[in-house]
Amino acid sequence: MPGFEIFGDEERKQVNDVLESGVLMRYGFDGMRNGHWKAKEFEKAFAKRMQSQHCQLVSSGTSALTVALASAGIGAGDEVIMPTFTFVASFESIIALGAVPILVDIDDTLTLDPKAVEAAITPRTRCIMPVHMCGSMANLKALKSICDAHNLILLEDACQALGGTYEGKPLGSYGDLGCFSFDYVKTITCGEGGGIITNSEKYAINADQYQDHGHDHFGNDRGAETHPHLGYNFRISELNAAVGVAQLGKLDSILALQKRNYTIMRETLETVEGLTFRRVPEGGVENYSFLNFFLASESIAQKAHNALSEAGVDACFYWYTNNWHYVNGWEHLRNLTSMGNLPSEVKKQMQNLIETDFSKSDAWMGRTISSLVKIGWTEAQVKERAEKMKKAINSVQ
Ligand SMILES: *Cc1c(COP(=O)(O)O)cnc(C)c1O
Repeated sequence: MPGFEIFGDEERKQVNDVLESGVLMRYGFDGMRNGHWKAKEFEKAFAKRMQSQHCQLVSSGTSALTVALASAGIGAGDEVIMPTFTFVASFESIIALGAVPILVDIDDTLTLDPKAVEAAITPRTRCIMPVHMCGSMANLKALKSICDAHNLILLEDACQALGGTYEGKPLGSYGDLGCFSFDYVKTITCGEGGGIITNSEKYAINADQYQDHGHDHFGNDRGAETHPHLGYNFRISELNAAVGVAQLGKLDSILALQKRNYTIMRETLETVEGLTFRRVPEGGVENYSFLNFFLASESIAQKAHNALSEAGVDACFYWYTNNWHYVNGWEHLRNLTSMGNLPSEVKKQMQNLIETDFSKSDAWMGRTISSLVKIGWTEAQVKERAEKMKKAINSVQ
């Protein structure tokens, strides 16, 4: 996920447009800004690229999730189903609203298992939040039919899968709402930033208001605006948005390079005995930001991960023992360790994560290794890397 690999003249030019006027805020100051509206420009271009009616830019992917949930009316005591393999932002955004994260097993897609989702639905469930981890997607068709049957909101966390598609639609645009991160390590970056896409005018208006203190954004006197709802400040700055405008222009060339490098690695590893690839749901196309594969057992995967690092192959991840991405590493969530008192709904309704059986997720995660796909690698470098990976993995099995 290489936005950071390609910061260049295009980004500098966009940022300089903002620096020249000195208008660092996305709203107001019309006379001073030399016609530059970088956040608005990004939103328009991103909505179009994502084949969606609306885009709301915000300060991070985490705030995108929070604003998306809030704009769909999710609040205290509402249950949101999320996977065991994700980034901490999933439960952070849910708990921030007093809503309750319900963690559910993944399957060989490394995303929500639709059967486990169905089993977790209660009368309090309001939303299903699949997370398209490491460049590939959840079985959105199955999840959508569960949502339709139970009148639930489908919110896609596409932070790690920008540019992938499902049934021909950009990931993020299939559900009711889709969220993206433009932090420094994502496919394209704003430095820090996030975005929400939706085809619902109601959610779009709610998101626009919620991320800016509830302002109605009518007219151009902020002091005279009304506040139809309570909100918060999740605004992006004009400087960050400017970086994103330039990066968005590079998205298609990033995706093409990712696909090339991914394919070289995949074709080499295909010949390794006992190695299988993560399942991509029918109708899905990855964004190729990671190559994800399973080894025959947890112990082989652990040994292979060590052998890869000893062989000098960088950017290979063994998420199972990683503190950021898998439920095993979330001590603070399991113990609900917070600085202050948590909402009573969260305390009352949370699963007991210390006792919940996630052995089905463990069985997949314990065997999973992911290699990042960088775009700076030349074809020869990727070939050399792939051969090294093959040798390192073969040496432990
Ligand atoms: C990065 C990421 C986020 C959060 O994005 P930030 O911009 O870093 O707040 C959320 N979900 C997933 C899956 C991510 O990878």
